[in-house]
Amino acid sequence: MSKEISAVITLFGGSGDLAQRKLYPALFGLYRRGVLKDHFAVIGTARRPWSDEHYRDIVREAVCDDSIEATAQASAFASHFYYQSHDVTDAAHYTTLKELAAQLDEQYAVGGNRLFYMAMAPNFFATIASHLKSEALLTEDGFNRLIIEKPFGHDYASAAALNASITATFDERQIYRIDHYLGKEMAQAILGLRFGNPLLRGVWHKDYIHDIQITLAEAVGVEERAGYYETSGALRDMVQNHVMQLLAYLTMDEPSALTPEAVHEVKARAFDQLHRYTEAEVAANFVRGQYTAATIAGTAIPGYREEDGVAQQSMTETFVAGRILTDAPAFAGVPIFIRTGKRLTRKSTQVTVTFKPQAAGLFGAQPANTLTIYVEPSEGFSLELNGQALGQTNVLEPEELRFRHDPAAAKAAPEAYERLINDALHGDQTNFNHWNELAQTWRYVDVILAAWAKDETMPTYAAGTMGPDAATALLERDGHHWFWQPTRIQMAD
Ligand code: NAD
Repeated sequence: MSKEISAVITLFGGSGDLAQRKLYPALFGLYRRGVLKDHFAVIGTARRPWSDEHYRDIVREAVCDDSIEATAQASAFASHFYYQSHDVTDAAHYTTLKELAAQLDEQYAVGGNRLFYMAMAPNFFATIASHLKSEALLTEDGFNRLIIEKPFGHDYASAAALNASITATFDERQIYRIDHYLGKEMAQAILGLRFGNPLLRGVWHKDYIHDIQITLAEAVGVEERAGYYETSGALRDMVQNHVMQLLAYLTMDEPSALTPEAVHEVKARAFDQLHRYTEAEVAANFVRGQYTAATIAGTAIPGYREEDGVAQQSMTETFVAGRILTDAPAFAGVPIFIRTGKRLTRKSTQVTVTFKPQAAGLFGAQPANTLTIYVEPSEGFSLELNGQALGQTNVLEPEELRFRHDPAAAKAAPEAYERLINDALHGDQTNFNHWNELAQTWRYVDVILAAWAKDETMPTYAAGTMGPDAATALLERDGHHWFWQPTRIQMAD
């Protein structure tokens, strides 16, 4: 982690779920590592009329684990938190907020730095940004940065409109559009694996790569988020952002440096080079699905359409699989299979790169070499190489070289939100979404949405399985198969 930073952090949505589950623990992590120390204050805002004391209790509770050391630190940490009842639609409330920020700036000798975090429903993002400008909350003498949560728009047009309203107040260099997958240890580690190993760097190419598979599987259903999910679905919720970001890390050119500019440049090019399907081609390359009721380990699981808050005839997809192609010269013709969904067999985010097997060599046809990167819940990677079967001359069989981070060490490492807030405090935009990336990914996804809007069929899959049959057929058609099939017993997950 990096050096100490001074800032007044204003959190819009301070009483919300994200703040309590992710943001307070992330800020506490930064406090424990000394990034936030003496010269910081957090203003939590929400509509409820809370006192500072009550707010500090909430913060303490959100960050405390069982250790005595953490309990003592939590109280000192929470003393930096202030609560301001605030309706984001009321311009007058911003004056109070500005005065409080100025007072805390002086009290903690912050020096004018401001970080604004929008952890609220997205329909408020533009309103907050415009009020921050009209009520002059940005300072002249320090940095002013904005972290903005997903979803960033609902399609290209809405994302562009939102971007226009935010860039009226903040310029691109001040905007940190969050995709928490970019904060994950093993998502970031893809760059090191690809570009830090001559062994992989030399074969990361269409001549050697057979296919790439990206799976983001959730075991949970829609939970209490049906209201949001009904307007989103798996394509918007997972593919446009998280899946696409992993895809970019896997297919982009090597950046000239590990700077935000260089990384954004190659990522934007990777998205530019995605092969755009026409609406007519979508059905052959993308599969959607909805989970139906099932009994899993003796527990009755409702189907998606039976969940609270879901329309009985809902056409919202809870699963997407796709066959993505890129026109990037290094990857032309290499299929990138993606899938994500709710109520799948097991929670796991993993990527498998399958290398082209040698059709005929000294040893005849051989199993393909594969590299699998485990993003979550376990973190690490496996390489399958062919070794001589024990006691059998000239007979090869796949052997797995397996690395996993030690779970205790991984738990002690900074979590995604902590990394990303740390980056934003230090002005490092590398692991945030540039507008160009969002524009391109929305354009890509919009075609699929348009095709699906005209299609009245909705394939289904039983809760606890890995999606509709069509998702398997999507690969089998070209002689591929899903590498990770959690119904079968497999060591490597
Ligand atoms: P939430 O509904 O739990 O919290 C919303 C917050 O906004 C509350 O503090 C509420 O008091 C406040 N609020 C609502 N209307 C207001 C108004 N008019 N003025 C002032 N405050 C108002 O939402 P959440 O789950 O914390 O999500 C926040 C954002 O984070 C959303 O953009 C969401 O998409 C994103 N996000 C959340 C999660 C998550 O795990 N919860 C994950 C990824 C992204």
